[in-house]
Amino acid sequence: MRPTGKLHLGHYTGALENWVARQNELGADGKRAFETYFLIADYHSLTTSLDTADIFDHTINMVTDWLAAGIDPDKSPVFRQSQIKQHTELFLIFAMLITASRLERNPTLKDQIRDLNMEAVSYGHLGYPVLQAADILLYKGNTVPVGEDQLPHVEITREIARRFNKQYQHPKLGDVFEEPDPKITKFSRLAGLDGKTKMSKSLGNTILLSDQPEEVLQKVRKAVTDTQKIRKNDPGRPEVCTVFSYHCKFSSPDEVETIAQDCRSGILGCVDCKKRCAGAISRDLAPILEKRLEYAAKPDMVKDILLRGEENARRVAEKTMKEVQEAMQIG
Ligand code: AMP
Repeated sequence: MRPTGKLHLGHYTGALENWVARQNELGADGKRAFETYFLIADYHSLTTSLDTADIFDHTINMVTDWLAAGIDPDKSPVFRQSQIKQHTELFLIFAMLITASRLERNPTLKDQIRDLNMEAVSYGHLGYPVLQAADILLYKGNTVPVGEDQLPHVEITREIARRFNKQYQHPKLGDVFEEPDPKITKFSRLAGLDGKTKMSKSLGNTILLSDQPEEVLQKVRKAVTDTQKIRKNDPGRPEVCTVFSYHCKFSSPDEVETIAQDCRSGILGCVDCKKRCAGAISRDLAPILEKRLEYAAKPDMVKDILLRGEENARRVAEKTMKEVQEAMQIG
């Protein structure tokens, strides 16, 4: 994740929740099913903003959210991309293995250009997925839990891994890289409060993981619903309603069914429905809010977690980079 500050519900439902699940998943032998690594993509944030004044504060805020949501630094290294030089080194090599036209076809880049009204794209921004390929493959990642917008990037990572293995074989290992698979959740593209298809900080349509119940209620009150349901008793169409999509995530299956029926028949008005939605979101977030308070009071502990994670991640990155150079017969 790029350090853009406090996280919103899209980050949570699309990625973070899935990260915690993978971190805690046990295999048939009762041991952890995955080794998990969580990266703060600080260099990636330069693709859309060169202003770095707040990057450290944003990093601490984001990692505080990660920890509050259940990331355990004793199980998973948490580290900054910028502090491990092998990311940029491998990025350079990978950049030779993919064409500029392939990167220009990346649909996520096209969405960003549209959403941010960008007039021009930097060479570094075009290479966003190439740096991401280095982020994943340095740790021999085989499973990448991401939101839907990142699927094209994982596909590019697979192509780069394939291309590298075809070009360079390690004398002992043969293939240096495995092609990773993406892992998306049921809510891999959470809609924004304004009804836009994606909740996003740059679109200003978010509910934050750290919002207090009153803030959640205020925000949900303003959310866009079915535009054809004007009066309370008009029959609504839950399938086009943003608030209903939040119910699907945060309310119980029985509640979701009742809400859908009562909305369709016109018994349930939007004001009441929104109140129930905000309540369900805040109930789900309550343990995260509580844990967040503990970590927010200890920013030095968060800094130590980063330093420790960086030490661990660096060891793995150095080993992979050595294998890369051996396969390439460099050095
Ligand atoms: P980013 O802030 O772009 O670095 O995103 C971090 C992770 O959160 C990525 O895996 C994204 O796909 C995911 N993500 C961001 N916004 C949303 C959203 N609205 N719905 C689902 N996943 C999201």
